[in-house]
Amino acid sequence: MLLLLLAWVGATFGPIFWAWKENALVSLGLVLGLLFGYIVQLIWLFSGNIIIIDMLWMRPNNLFDLNIFTLFTSGFLHSTPMHVLSNIVIIALVGIPLEQRMGRARWLVIYVIGLLGGSLCWSIANLGTNTPALGASGAAFGILGAYLAGWPKDEVYFPLIIIRPWPVSLIALIYFGLEIVRTYQTLGLSQPSHVGHLAHLGGFAFAYACLNTVAKNGPVPPGETSEKFGPLKDLPSEHPFENVAHIMEKLYEEGDQKETRQAWMEELTEQTTCPVCQGPLIVKNYRVRCQTSTSHLHWP
Ligand SMILES: [Zn+2]
Repeated sequence: MLLLLLAWVGATFGPIFWAWKENALVSLGLVLGLLFGYIVQLIWLFSGNIIIIDMLWMRPNNLFDLNIFTLFTSGFLHSTPMHVLSNIVIIALVGIPLEQRMGRARWLVIYVIGLLGGSLCWSIANLGTNTPALGASGAAFGILGAYLAGWPKDEVYFPLIIIRPWPVSLIALIYFGLEIVRTYQTLGLSQPSHVGHLAHLGGFAFAYACLNTVAKNGPVPPGETSEKFGPLKDLPSEHPFENVAHIMEKLYEEGDQKETRQAWMEELTEQTTCPVCQGPLIVKNYRVRCQTSTSHLHWP
C-alpha cells in the first residue's frame, strides 16, 4: 500500500518538478501530473486498495486535526474520468496562456491560492459533517478568476459551443454565473449535489482577489497587453522587401491569422535579407526584424 501511495506521489508531482527543472511550462507539467495521478488512482481501484484515497481527500473535520494537509492533497485526486477531464480542459487551455502572462513561479502561487481557497471555503461551509471532497476544480476556477482579474480581454481557445478563441472575461463569467445558479439550487432550494460548488466559488474569489499582488512585477503587468498576445497589427501596404513578391502576396492574403502570418514571415526571412546590412532576418512577435539591429528593419 505504501508503494501504491508513493507511486501516486511520483506520478502526480514528478511531472511538475520535471517541468520546473527543464524550464518547461509548469501548467503543462501539472496537467500531466493530474492525468498520471488519476491513472494511479485507477490502479488503486482495480488492485482493491482504493482505501488509500481516504488518507488524501479532505473532510471538513480535518481542519482541526493533523490531516490539514488534505486541504492540499485533495486537489490532486479525482472521482471520474469526466471529473479529471473537465478540470484539465480549464488548466490547459486557460492556465497555459495565464502562465505565459504571469511566469512560472507566480502562476504556481496563484494555482495554490485557488486550490487552498476552494478547499477552505468548502470545509467551512460543510463544518460538522464528515463528507469527503476531492478534485482540482477549486484551482481550475482559481485560474479563471485570476485571468479575469488580470487580463480579461485576452482571447484563448476554449470549447464554448465551438472551439475558437473566446475572451477570457466571457469564459470566466459563464463559469462563475453557472456556479452561482448551482450554489443557489443546492443551498437555497436544498437540492442535493455532490459537487462542491462553494469550493469552485471560493477558488475563483480567492485567486481573483490575490491576482494583482501576485502578478505585480511579473512578465506582463495586469491590465497590459503585450504585442505577443495582443491583436495583430494591420500590415501596411508599403514594405521594404524586394524580389519576394509571391511571398508578400501570400502574407497580405493570409496574414490576418497568427499561424499563417508567422509561417509566411518565416518563409520571408528565409528568402530575403536585411536591406541595410544584408544580414539575416528573424521573426519576433509577428514582426520581421534584422537580427543585428531593429534600427535596420522592424516591420510592420
Ligand atoms: Zn541589418
